[in-house]
Amino acid sequence: MSTTGPTFAAETARHVLWHYGADGGYQPGSFTQKLMQAIDAADVVHKARLRGAYPELVDAMNLAANREDGIRQLQQGLGVTVAPLRCQCGDEDGPFTEDGQCEDCERRAAIGGAA
Ligand SMILES: [Zn+2]
Repeated sequence: MSTTGPTFAAETARHVLWHYGADGGYQPGSFTQKLMQAIDAADVVHKARLRGAYPELVDAMNLAANREDGIRQLQQGLGVTVAPLRCQCGDEDGPFTEDGQCEDCERRAAIGGAA
């Protein structure tokens, strides 16, 4: 898999992973914690302002929050090995629900015919 996404400083990536509760995360100091909360809460205008001051942190958070594989990109950049997400049916392509089900299985469960 050739992902040529942006690379971030390991410290930034770990802080963002921590913020999103992902494996490989590392708790930052209270300022960075609050800063990440502010970035999360910011609207487009304020996020752009914050990005002027903290470009790497804002970009890493955007990646994690808005890209389906963003968290994994950050983890890969750190060399964090995470077991591939896989549905009970063996599907590894995703996207997956929070329960780790593929869309097909989720649809089947929603219909009520979970096999
Ligand atoms: Zn499935």
